[in-house]
Amino acid sequence: MAEIIIPIDTACPICGEGTLILHIEGDTMEYKGITRTIPSQYKVCTACGSEQADIDDLRVNKRAMQAFKKKVDELLTGQEVKTLRENSHKKPSDESLL
Ligand SMILES: [Zn+2]
Repeated sequence: MAEIIIPIDTACPICGEGTLILHIEGDTMEYKGITRTIPSQYKVCTACGSEQADIDDLRVNKRAMQAFKKKVDELLTGQEVKTLRENSHKKPSDESLL
């Protein structure tokens, strides 16, 4: 994923001189053995060069992470259900004996 750079008209809270530039880049995340690249954003000051993530950035990043985890959970749940069905198909006679 290519980095996206968006200049925003917000004064740097650290030096007060520069304005902030929003950077959005791909961050590799691993969850339950599944690796994906999800967007991660932060801001960089044009004057002092400080990298900073404010509450909005953290919220967006958190949401992307949660969406990724949810997708993985759904994927794994689907596989588990499929495995259970396959197992039950193998021994239909056992069930009728119970
Ligand atoms: Zn600054």
